[in-house]
Amino acid sequence: MSAASVTVVIPVFNERENIAELVDRTIAACRSLDRPWEVIFVDDGSRDGSTEMLVQTAAAHAGSVKALLLNRNYGQHNAILCGFGAAQGDILVTLDADLQNPPEEIPALVRKIDEGFDVVGSVRQDRQDALFRKVFSGVINLMVRRTTGVRLHDYGCMLRAYRRRVVEAMLSCRERHTFIPVLANLFARRVTEIPVGHSERARGTSKYTLLKLVNLQFDLLTCMTTAPLRLLSWLGVAVSMLAIGFGALLLVLRFIYGAEWAGQGVFTLFAVAFFFIGAQFVALGLMGEYIGRIHADVRERPRYIIDRVVGETLGETSVAAVDSVSVARGVGRDRPQVRN
Ligand code: UDP
Ligand code: MG
Repeated sequence: MSAASVTVVIPVFNERENIAELVDRTIAACRSLDRPWEVIFVDDGSRDGSTEMLVQTAAAHAGSVKALLLNRNYGQHNAILCGFGAAQGDILVTLDADLQNPPEEIPALVRKIDEGFDVVGSVRQDRQDALFRKVFSGVINLMVRRTTGVRLHDYGCMLRAYRRRVVEAMLSCRERHTFIPVLANLFARRVTEIPVGHSERARGTSKYTLLKLVNLQFDLLTCMTTAPLRLLSWLGVAVSMLAIGFGALLLVLRFIYGAEWAGQGVFTLFAVAFFFIGAQFVALGLMGEYIGRIHADVRERPRYIIDRVVGETLGETSVAAVDSVSVARGVGRDRPQVRN
């Protein structure tokens, strides 16, 4: 059996100063793989001349390098998904264009997939970023680990490799805002991570403004869970319970110390008001539950992926009918069937 082919997908947004070195180092790493490979650059609406450089690169390396040019800036994760859509490899590797992730690590990622893992993440050793970014990432990673139960340590590092079936499942999700490493976990059976080097951004500046970074974290949160909506109900129940307790306490004290002490019922009013405030939160949370379900439905994520079907029953005619459905959905022979 020939070795699985590799597609490297690189999103590029105003990275003019990095492209020449990036192309050389990535191609050298791919050549060392000793198997079929392609590199797909996705230009995410650059305005600094990166686009023209990518066009030239694709022409100079025709047959192994492709450039997809988006008409405007759609964000790193959308650009990667766009690259995934055009990829032909069995193993898909993603990489940042700013050379903070060394392309030389690609073979190590690919080897892990060969070992049988579906997703290979990477942990930046001695990460060369601003302190606030590192602290921020630490908190986010902890949150993701707790929520998803997948014990990876660096969700922000986009130097990653995926088996094709995981990518196909991701592509069949219909959500607009997504966070690829978290989404991939949903469809992977065996996930691992390897330590990789990390460099300071040598040229250019980070493409993430504070606002973009915060928006990305919201994408991550909503991609992962609707738990915050449920939190509203719990908050409401807690406030109402406390209000009932407070009311009962007032009643008892009122009998002990008399009407004078109770301040003409002002505090009783507080207890009643708090009870209704709590009830409103419960109602909001209940609405949240419905919204959460709508959110889950519109994403149309596959419910499951069939890895293999073993055995034949009732003759092949009915099974063939099922197969034609999966073919019609763009799932080819030897490909796992993705079902919504
Ligand atoms: N990027 C992109 N679109 C964007 C923002 C970033 O394609 O809207 C690319 C960017 O060119 C780089 C990668 O995503 O290849 C990571 O961006 P950056 O290095 O600026 O992020 P940081 O390292 O600061 O997290
Ligand atoms: Mg960077």
